Amino acid sequence: MGLSQQSNTPLVLVVDDDNTTRMMALEFISQAGFRFLEASDGSEALQCLANEEPDLILLDVEMPGLSGYDVCSKIRTMPKYENTPVLMLTGLNNNEAIDLAYNAGATDFATKPINWSLLCHRLRYMYRASKAAEELAQSQMSLQVAQRIAELGNWSYDFATKEMVWSDQMYAMFGVDSNLHKPSLKLFCQSVHPDDNIRVVEWFKGVTSKSKSGTIDFKIVAKDGQPRHVRQVLEQVFDNSGKLIQLQATVQDFTDRRIAEKRIHQLAYYDELTGLANRTLFSEILKKAIKNADESKDQFAVLYFDLDDFKKVNDTFGHSIGDKMIHAVGEKIESALREHEVKANRTYKSSTIARMSGDEFTLLLDKIENREAVAALATVLKNLFNEPLQVDGHELFTSLSIGSALYPEDGDSVDTLLKNADIAMYDAKRAGKDHYRFFSHDRDAELARYHAVEDRMRTALKENNFEVFYQPQVDLITGKVNSAEALLRWTDDVLGFVSPVEFIPIAEENGFILELGEWVLRTACDQTKRWVDEGFDVQKIAVNISVLQFSQAGFSDLIESVLIDTGLDANGLKLEITESVLAVDTNHAVNALQALKHIGVDLSIDDFGTGYSSLSQLKHFPIDQLKIDQSFIRHLTENSEDKAITQAIIAMADSMNISVLAEGVETAEHLDFLRLNGCDEIQGYYVCKPMGAVSLEKEMGHINRLLGDVFSGTHLSSTHLKKAS
Ligand code: C2E
Ligand code: MG
Ligand code: MG
Repeated sequence: MGLSQQSNTPLVLVVDDDNTTRMMALEFISQAGFRFLEASDGSEALQCLANEEPDLILLDVEMPGLSGYDVCSKIRTMPKYENTPVLMLTGLNNNEAIDLAYNAGATDFATKPINWSLLCHRLRYMYRASKAAEELAQSQMSLQVAQRIAELGNWSYDFATKEMVWSDQMYAMFGVDSNLHKPSLKLFCQSVHPDDNIRVVEWFKGVTSKSKSGTIDFKIVAKDGQPRHVRQVLEQVFDNSGKLIQLQATVQDFTDRRIAEKRIHQLAYYDELTGLANRTLFSEILKKAIKNADESKDQFAVLYFDLDDFKKVNDTFGHSIGDKMIHAVGEKIESALREHEVKANRTYKSSTIARMSGDEFTLLLDKIENREAVAALATVLKNLFNEPLQVDGHELFTSLSIGSALYPEDGDSVDTLLKNADIAMYDAKRAGKDHYRFFSHDRDAELARYHAVEDRMRTALKENNFEVFYQPQVDLITGKVNSAEALLRWTDDVLGFVSPVEFIPIAEENGFILELGEWVLRTACDQTKRWVDEGFDVQKIAVNISVLQFSQAGFSDLIESVLIDTGLDANGLKLEITESVLAVDTNHAVNALQALKHIGVDLSIDDFGTGYSSLSQLKHFPIDQLKIDQSFIRHLTENSEDKAITQAIIAMADSMNISVLAEGVETAEHLDFLRLNGCDEIQGYYVCKPMGAVSLEKEMGHINRLLGDVFSGTHLSSTHLKKAS
């Protein structure tokens, strides 16, 4: 065995047991420019093939041991040599030998004696042909791979033979087994999705009758039964006389691109978290609404809403729960809107809800009749959140602050409408959250007032322009004043009287309430300590505490230090907190309330009934008293619903050992009703308006006389007697 030295030239393996023949072969072969290897029998040849990789094999048939046929058959089983040209040399010029050679897989044969120079030409030709075949196979393979990657199939149809040819990728795409089916136009149309079948058949008729190439998109049913989107591009082939002889087409599956396009569209126009429209889509819808309203002369409304205290949910429960809550809110509003449309017999979608960012949503209400209709729907939406949301096993309370702007009245462009609805929403927040506000054109004046109040506030505290007023609270069992509520009053040098309803929310917004609230606490406790020492009727003081104060770290320490500094006993102080304190962060609320209870102060829930908490929820909190909101008391005697609510609150609070105070008691009838129904305490103009400490001291005699009249010799209801005992 040997290997000639030149490289890059074809390598020939010469297998012959006859030394002379081998020598001759090698001589001619090397002269013809081939490299060579030699083997003197079959097994040496096979061993050689395992180590080297010849491009051509010259193989003698008659050899001792393995014959040339055996060696050739073996060679063909070796993957590397499946297509390597094998030229067999035989001394037997008969048909049987030739058949045997071909059957064993020979490429060609030559009979001895050999014409060596002719044989070298044949070798060269065989080499070139085998290289060309190899390259063709390679490029067909690449084409197939490329078609598979591009999900591109192609077919042709010959009008003369009426034969259709499909590429492998066509079969794969159409889910057709090439062994079972012969391609035809009929088979093609069978794979077309029923939705598109008629259209595709018509299209084929068009392209075969007219001299027109074309493109068509349609769906096919893939092997798995799923529809796939394909695009077919067809070319017609004409002969020299202009006769249509062939159709050539490519079919490309673009389902994935369709899905990607859809996804891109989804990302560009919809909010990921809620699936609702996003700011971009909402702006586009608004633009269209403006155009439509201009034509139809209709009005529409833009509502902007924001979840109250959402930040607390995120801070307390984490962003994942926060996200789920946003999702739940979006769903709840969306389904309420659809329900509303059904009720209003609207056959079209008359509202679009979008999530703008974070906890902000917008709503477009098409074709609205008047502001009242918008207000009514806003109220429906607000009331959706009277019940807690169930999120991951948590009961979460939230409320909405809603602002609205009307087209064309409150703005004539997308930006102005959104801006004005947003401003109105902030007004709603300022009004104490869980509110609804229209955009007001007096906004500039309002803003100026807001800034003036904010600006003067700090000066007012330094210049002692704040004062604490006191309003007595009467025990309905003893008929005597036992405590008073401290209420802030501010008469400013520049602004005049400013109501706490106006300045408290501003102070809460800018944080000044912390300083102001502490001042109220100290002033009121100081005053009460003096009254306690003097044996005055007011022995306990109720101080309003804002959410910000309550949530402040170390709030219970502050209470303790105020009590120490003023010398007031802890049971001389009652803290009035609003339901919103309990609403969001239940754990923090329970801990903070417990710390306060530990000090020994009373805890009262102010404005009860207007917020979110249910009575059953209250049992988790160490509460001493509920103050029924004055909105229930105001129409107590004429509104049966208010009566029922008040009675229910009293009965349930009683069962939980929580006392009830009714605020806003303005008439003797109110008082009677509350007494008869077992209410524990009352507060209101009927007994006394809030007033300064000195005035209250003077007024107390009058108050006691009034109470004496009311309570002397009067009947007490059986309920009340039971409670009193
Ligand atoms: P509130 O705590 O619910 O106080 C009761 C409000 O009802 C007081 O209004 C009081 O003057 C009024 N009121 C009392 N009796 C009657 C009545 O018979 N009829 C009617 N119509 N109203 C009655 P005011 O003083 O204007 O205070 C409004 C709100 O401002 C308070 O509501 C409270 O939320 C807040 N506020 C007042 N002072 C403070 C304070 O020192 N700190 C904090 N954080 N908030 C305060
Ligand atoms: Mg209060
Ligand atoms: Mg109140």
